[in-house]
Amino acid sequence: MSYKLKSVVVFLDVLKSYEKVSGLKINISKSECMWIGASRNCKREVLGLKWPKRPIKCLGVYLTYDYDEFIKLNYKQRLKKMEDTANWWRGRGLTMHGRAQIINSLLLSKLIYIASMFPVPEEVIKEANRIIFKFLWKGQDRAARKAMINNFENGGLNVLDFETMVKSLRLAWLRRLYIDEDAGWKRYLRFLIKPFGGDLLFHCDYEPREYNITNKFYAELIQFWAEFRNAFSTEDDSTSIIWNNKNIRINGKPVFYRRFFDKNLISIRQLRLHLNNAESLDLIRTDLELNCNFLVWAGLRSAIPVSLRGKENDVRLTNALGFYDNNTFFDATLAKSRGYYRFLIRLKATLPNSANKLQSEFNIDATNLTMFYSLPKLVCLETYLRDFQFKVLNYITCTNILLKKMGIVQSDLCTFCNLTKEDIEHLFFSCSFSLKFWKDFELCWKKCTNSNINLTSQDVILGISGNNNGLLNYCIILGKSIIYYCRRNNVKPNIQLFKVKLKQKYQTELYLARKNATLDNFNEKWLFNPLAFKF
Ligand SMILES: [Zn+2]
Repeated sequence: MSYKLKSVVVFLDVLKSYEKVSGLKINISKSECMWIGASRNCKREVLGLKWPKRPIKCLGVYLTYDYDEFIKLNYKQRLKKMEDTANWWRGRGLTMHGRAQIINSLLLSKLIYIASMFPVPEEVIKEANRIIFKFLWKGQDRAARKAMINNFENGGLNVLDFETMVKSLRLAWLRRLYIDEDAGWKRYLRFLIKPFGGDLLFHCDYEPREYNITNKFYAELIQFWAEFRNAFSTEDDSTSIIWNNKNIRINGKPVFYRRFFDKNLISIRQLRLHLNNAESLDLIRTDLELNCNFLVWAGLRSAIPVSLRGKENDVRLTNALGFYDNNTFFDATLAKSRGYYRFLIRLKATLPNSANKLQSEFNIDATNLTMFYSLPKLVCLETYLRDFQFKVLNYITCTNILLKKMGIVQSDLCTFCNLTKEDIEHLFFSCSFSLKFWKDFELCWKKCTNSNINLTSQDVILGISGNNNGLLNYCIILGKSIIYYCRRNNVKPNIQLFKVKLKQKYQTELYLARKNATLDNFNEKWLFNPLAFKF
């Protein structure tokens, strides 16, 4: 009997003893075994156990060495479920904000479990994105995906990015690696990186492509960590470490001398590059009791490139693994996947394409842009209004210009005046019918608040900056939505409709505020009571 098989026999004995003590018994008839590692191709069926030919399912995951089979059973089935769920929610008349919520909570969750434990092939990421964005847009994309994964302040919808999630989930394994408890997978990972100093590798300034780690899951972990630190570190010790340093090369390769490392030789500073080879060698022999050949010592010293010669950091390997991001220490031994995600998404997410257009058309700076993007969420409780304003800011509101391009209407002229092309600015502001609406709106505002306003096209399209304009901004968005409602129903904009709607909104919010005991917020928002005015 081979050594490996003996260990199974011992294991079964242990389970038997456990049964005697606890009364919990393993069901042999339900137990299935699989040859793994070097014995993966073994066909023997021994010990009276089941050795099925098909993949074994364990904790919801199908295990097999057949890559295509693995993808099919574990990812394709989950993607199918994800699409079914998306289809189920599709017909429910949700807003875009609502659909983004469904994506984050119900669709992506189907993949998180498996993606946290196995490498995710690119084709799976592509397919997941196809399902997600088809659901978000109810068809073709109408704004850049990289913008939709951004936060609200930067014009996005906060849709979680699956690829970034995969990276974050993987990086979170660093924390588990450093948690003080033994596990088989840790021993395996440390076995893989042992030739490079074990855990030391994570502290070094290494080039991931130079490390031939056979296990893809861990190879990616090592790659993602190097990329992550390089992207966000403003200060760390990695470049001061001699070992595995991509810029310190002997015979074209980075070096790791275990014997030197075991004697605590870590930092470039310890090489005492201001002294000559003989003097520095003498000192290292006494300081670290390191018995070193002159040629090896001289070779190591001459491998340090000029750019690293001034490194004076005394690197001490502590229990922490991390770097400084502008004076804040990012500690990988504590960080969870959410923490990584917050960083990584900054690298990928962009502003919507419409941001440039908004900035040049209205002459606003980046800070103001952020404010205008956040405004709908701050002032509107209703997601349909947030959605409405989101579309205005992204220039994807359905106007005749857009509908003509899609071949749905014949003319791109304005629905109200039939004189000018119906772009967003014309429809909501400069059309004579809309201008009349806003004049009436100003009168109405004067009557209720006793203050004069004179709305510009920027005020109407983007909103008004300043802290005390919450209700006014809300009313402007509501006003625009009334204009849009009139356009759809082919009637001229009418302030009466707005007034009726405003009264309804007041009543609804008052009811909700009483029910939820949030009257303070309610009173803060409603500077006046529209019901008290006879208009
Ligand atoms: Zn018009």
